[in-house]
Amino acid sequence: MKDKIIYWLTGSQTLYGDDVLQHVAQHSEEMANYVNRFMPVTVKYLTTCKSSDEIVEAVKKVNADENCVGIIAWCHTFSPAKMWINGLKLLQKPMCHFATQYNEKLPYDTIDMDFMNENQAAHGDREFGYIVARMRMDNKVIVGHYTDEAALKELASWCRVAAGLAFSKTVKVCRFSDNMRDVAVTEGDKIDAHENLGWQVDYYPIGDLVEYINAVTEKEVDALIKEYGKKYKMGTDKISVVREQAKYEIAIEKFCRDKGGYIGIVDHFGTLHGLNQLPGLAIQDLQSKGYGFGAEGDWKIAALGAVMQYMADQKGTGMMEDYTYDLKDGLCLGAHMLEVSPQFAATKPEIQVHPLGIGGKSDPARLVFEGIAAPEAIAVSMIDMGNRMRLIVQKIELVKYPHKMPNLPVGGLMWKYRPNFKDGVAAWIYAGGAHHTVVSAVVTAQEMIDLGNAWGVEVVVIDEKTELNAFKQQLMWADRIWKLKS
Ligand code: MN
Repeated sequence: MKDKIIYWLTGSQTLYGDDVLQHVAQHSEEMANYVNRFMPVTVKYLTTCKSSDEIVEAVKKVNADENCVGIIAWCHTFSPAKMWINGLKLLQKPMCHFATQYNEKLPYDTIDMDFMNENQAAHGDREFGYIVARMRMDNKVIVGHYTDEAALKELASWCRVAAGLAFSKTVKVCRFSDNMRDVAVTEGDKIDAHENLGWQVDYYPIGDLVEYINAVTEKEVDALIKEYGKKYKMGTDKISVVREQAKYEIAIEKFCRDKGGYIGIVDHFGTLHGLNQLPGLAIQDLQSKGYGFGAEGDWKIAALGAVMQYMADQKGTGMMEDYTYDLKDGLCLGAHMLEVSPQFAATKPEIQVHPLGIGGKSDPARLVFEGIAAPEAIAVSMIDMGNRMRLIVQKIELVKYPHKMPNLPVGGLMWKYRPNFKDGVAAWIYAGGAHHTVVSAVVTAQEMIDLGNAWGVEVVVIDEKTELNAFKQQLMWADRIWKLKS
């Protein structure tokens, strides 16, 4: 992400004279350089804004810079906000208003009116905040001294969201199948997703992929099997079955590259003509490289997975499916028929071959492992409500398997719901959350809320503060608001 830039723009005006403006510029540069050290992206001071024309020029630069994913704005002095209107109207990238200050403490013994005029963030930030509110812009406000650890952490989070938003606009999903017959929640408006989230979702017949599979050479397969050997344990002697999965992986990756850079993949166990196994190990290994995956035609989860994997730097993130409960201990066991990402592995994944009752193909190779524990994780679902997308973000706690499950032939995760099992499950069901999710132990709930706001979709949060009756009321109000909006 460090190749992405966030420009720091400082608000001021000419009223206080050149000396003050010189200090403003010096301080801003120093602050931006300091902040940059703790950010996943590059933060660069751009300019001090003193007039409407200057702000328009700065925003044009921000918009035109391909690597720029957003701006940080702050007012060192008072900066009359009418001069921000034209620039902000042009701004095409997300903005964080960093309510900070050069000095952390007041110099109580020496403070005079010169100091007051040069350092009036409390004054200037309010004028700036008014115009942003008046223009109904969706920005993020972060408060704190620029060296404060908590403020820097929040800012780093927002930088990841800004980069994720830019990445989202480049996501292309390659689907080798339509959605599974009769299934509702994996459906959705692809044009809405393209327009508002930036996701391009294209269909290719599975036969096109079969041509790529048939063209894979034994030498290419040898090389990938060697890679598998480094990352995974070989728990089967059915090497030809594993080699078949390697072929699928090589073919899918080449296909995605050749056809214009697909980073999301969708397949379906019922649409496998010309393949003798459901891609399992192949899809798992592709997820470990950052590809988003959606099963049974679920393109929304493939795209969401790709975005969240990018934000997580390809760690602890992947497609999941709520599968079966332990009602006694209030747990959910999540897995899928094969395709659980090895990013979730707590034990070294083992390549195994087992029968798969669904789909009517040969026994497929897959990675089997126990899932990680993580006190703070999230499960995220994207559903189409007919007039808008709804992003549902639930806080969960990933827990160690409480017992061995020697006959479970897939990777999995176990978790507890927030605020508790009963209300967490009920809230998810009231909100219409899907069985397919993207789970992450790296991306935070706040990051997904901020990303959802930046996308302009409805965001529903289920966390430790969720109270079921208030939650239902909130869903009802939100529905009325969205009816007015669309
Ligand atoms: Mn599924």
